[in-house]
Amino acid sequence: MVHAPIHKTVVPASKPNLSDYDATVAGFSWQEAERQLDGLPGGAGLNIAHEAVDRHVLHGRGHKTAIRWLGKSGERREFSYLDLARATNQFAHALEHLGVRPGERVFILMGRLPELYVALLGALKARCVVTPLFSAFGPEPIATRAEMGDARVLVTTPELYQRKVQDLRERLPGLRHVIVAGAVPSDEGGVHPWGALVSPASTTYTIAPTDPESMALLHFTSGTTGRPKGAVHVHAAVLAHMVTGRYALDLHDDDVFWCTADPGWVTGTSYGIIAPLVCGVTNVVVEAEFDAQTWYGVLERERVSIWYTAPTAIRMMMKLGAEALKGVDLSALRFMASVGEPLNPEAVVWGLEAFGLPFHDNWWQTETGGIMVSNYLAMDIRPGSMGKPLPGIVAAVVRRTGSGHVEAITAPDVDGELALRAPWPSMMRGYLHEDERYRKCFVDGWYLTGDLVRRDAEGYYWFVGRADDVIKSSGHLIGPFEVESALMEHPAVAEAGVIGIPDPMAGEVVKAFVALKPGHEASEALRRELLGHARKRLGAAVAPKQIDFRDNLPKTRSGKIMRRLLKARELGLPEGDLSTLESDEKK
Ligand code: AMP
Repeated sequence: MVHAPIHKTVVPASKPNLSDYDATVAGFSWQEAERQLDGLPGGAGLNIAHEAVDRHVLHGRGHKTAIRWLGKSGERREFSYLDLARATNQFAHALEHLGVRPGERVFILMGRLPELYVALLGALKARCVVTPLFSAFGPEPIATRAEMGDARVLVTTPELYQRKVQDLRERLPGLRHVIVAGAVPSDEGGVHPWGALVSPASTTYTIAPTDPESMALLHFTSGTTGRPKGAVHVHAAVLAHMVTGRYALDLHDDDVFWCTADPGWVTGTSYGIIAPLVCGVTNVVVEAEFDAQTWYGVLERERVSIWYTAPTAIRMMMKLGAEALKGVDLSALRFMASVGEPLNPEAVVWGLEAFGLPFHDNWWQTETGGIMVSNYLAMDIRPGSMGKPLPGIVAAVVRRTGSGHVEAITAPDVDGELALRAPWPSMMRGYLHEDERYRKCFVDGWYLTGDLVRRDAEGYYWFVGRADDVIKSSGHLIGPFEVESALMEHPAVAEAGVIGIPDPMAGEVVKAFVALKPGHEASEALRRELLGHARKRLGAAVAPKQIDFRDNLPKTRSGKIMRRLLKARELGLPEGDLSTLESDEKK
């Protein structure tokens, strides 16, 4: 169903940071925007943690609440910008005390605890490279990423260490130090309790000169084939975090902001930590997982004014109905945004009915480092559209020509691949150890996103689908290869093919097709065993929800499993070009 545009005729209480889209685009320059950042004192470069934390203290805003942490059991802790500056200084000292060098990798595996925020920003101060990992990952995704990224330090909790990491230590000889937020689980070498290591350190620290182009964050993301990709981001990305925070999320100094994403995924880092702090707002962090009543309580009690969430959660709230919001005081809420997966037009409109505000969809991905296409506060919304490119970003819809080039599609309403003119400050600077894979993302000066879109006559972009086989489930990007590999480790499995199938809540869920080795019989018991095996290896967020047995899987003549065909057959869609299919499968 096509929904009517939502016209922004009401003048918002605070003046939007972007009040005229076309004029802002025309007048925008990244150099000009950079003046809103400080840079390190004495012209010593640019460091994300300085811009996010210390800058506010230097400018007399140290007393302001930076992070308001709401624990699972009802605890509540406030950290001012000064508190955060001191705590992150201590963490930077702690790393130096351990002999950790700039450029070395600090991995963080924990739920949304205050230590996560301190460790991430403190490690950036020490010019280490930070990789946040999703705490619901199983041991396999943790080990793969820590191996690939050469993790030197891991910051985690005693419980996660014991449950997921301890058995991996032999596989990770480069992992020299584990810092645990809590009591040390054993007297193992290299395991340091936070209290003994970090708490006694000095609260003053001077960030050493930082090259804006030096690596700051390493975010793993999934591709169709092979291992995950380590997208390299640099300190200079902070400029895009600031600009998107101001324009796409309309952050003003007095806002109370809540991003529901976990820092184990890129949104939770760029917008759950960096952008709000750089913009100097109060950043609400909620440790608990989704629960509508808890969330509504947070919006009301904390007087959240800007809320950044995701379609799966919005769909779950829609299911409960607008009645669940009756009596909830939402008077502070003035802007709601969504990201990560397609946002149904019904959900945009439902926002108006239930919250009195529409959800503003925006688009970006791990590789872009920040929001690239967005619905802005002062711009009319076309429900179902991702909006228009950020000022400073040139986007296009392109098609790949046979000759290794791309051509821009200028006619409206034609499907093609979303391309962004390179570079921009938060663009990834590489895939770790994979130069060729990185190089292939760029053609004729465009970064090719792998997403299919169309642009309408008014310049709004509409998401059409992914050009590859990766799966988006509850907003989490899942690589089929990683799931197939885990299934193949099971002694009964000969082949595995993994696809995403549509799901009304999660967008997609992971489904696996498995062919068994001779001597193994398909049965309900084996299905359950395989589901359990995958869950144990991969963690609940990544493991398949469904497994079907097949005698054999459709493959190309070169032996590659044709996921596209598995999907077409599963969903009753046209099977498409079968010319590369192995001949005995064409039935
Ligand atoms: P990730 O790198 O995990 O953040 O995933 C990025 C991918 O999520 C994009 O390439 C899209 O396929 C999808 N995505 C992100 N935002 C949107 C959106 N607003 N609408 C549709 N798909 C989206």
